[in-house]
Amino acid sequence: DETLSPLVIPTERDVEGTLRPKDLTEFVGQLKVREQLELVLQGAMRRGSPPDHVLLSGPPGLGKTSLAMIIAAELGASLRITSGPALERAGDLAAMLSNLVEGDVLFIDEIHRIARPAEEMLYLAMEDFRVDVVVGKGPGATSIPLDIAPFTLVGATTRSGSLTGPLRDRFGFTGHMEFYTADELDHIIRRSAKILGVDLREDGALEIAGRSRGTPRIANRLLRRVRDFAEVRADGVVDLQVARDALAVYDVDELGLDRLDRAVLGALVRSFGGGPVGVATLAVAVGEEVTTVEEVCEPYLVRAGMLARTPRGRVATDAAWLHLGLQPPTA
Ligand code: ADP
Repeated sequence: DETLSPLVIPTERDVEGTLRPKDLTEFVGQLKVREQLELVLQGAMRRGSPPDHVLLSGPPGLGKTSLAMIIAAELGASLRITSGPALERAGDLAAMLSNLVEGDVLFIDEIHRIARPAEEMLYLAMEDFRVDVVVGKGPGATSIPLDIAPFTLVGATTRSGSLTGPLRDRFGFTGHMEFYTADELDHIIRRSAKILGVDLREDGALEIAGRSRGTPRIANRLLRRVRDFAEVRADGVVDLQVARDALAVYDVDELGLDRLDRAVLGALVRSFGGGPVGVATLAVAVGEEVTTVEEVCEPYLVRAGMLARTPRGRVATDAAWLHLGLQPPTA
């Protein structure tokens, strides 16, 4: 019945998909990783064999998933996508691996969160393209070796440090994703505005770029929020003033720090005198998961020169005190 068919409303995630770069020429920035990766891919293609397994590490939203999709596209291979937390049982991974076709790219997001038995199965799969499937339970259990098609694993992680040594060693190449410069983000935002049909002025684009925490996903999200504001409260044009007014509504400050970033800095400065304080204590103080504070907030606060990680704990820099409008303690 036509009248009962649900309206298909594109979700924000769908929009993110339309903004994803489709090939290396559309992929802005990350020159180092791109150059390295191009060599890995071209070398493999010349030899006619699947490339080495690739690990991409860096904070969320910097383009790891996009790059995995581009790798598959460049190789003319199909991409299978899963994630560490989804691979709780080794059997789930075995099923995935045994369905691979030669040359496939398998993308495992958040690979550092993969469960131990699955991780151990992955070692053999990555090295020898083989899995040992255990059949039965208890003393009668036997393990049956099963060949799988040669494939390329692309792993993504926000914490390369918490990957076990044996897993890390099985990747032939690790790409370290960096935060993007304001110029690169400006480029990304202008491209996205074109795709979304937003009337974006130069000064508006630069303002959003400067407040995107070096992160394309945030840049695209802020663009969509500023567009909302422009359409609802202004004439639809995104210029400097509209961008500023909109970002004020969404609590994004001049440096791009959001509520959580400022909460972390605020707790560090006000409750712990600027530190040093352990990250777990800091996370409790702001009511967040330790992993969120460590993997989402801290990398950018460190890069913005607001926070230092020392062996004794986290320390606020003078810039952090000043940013919060406070006088740094004199040494
Ligand atoms: P990650 O997997 O690292 O969390 P994604 O690959 O999902 O990041 O990227 C998030 C969004 O940011 C994508 O949908 C894409 O629109 C945008 N993006 C990321 N990197 C780039 C880039 N280098 N150039 C253009 N857009 C990018």
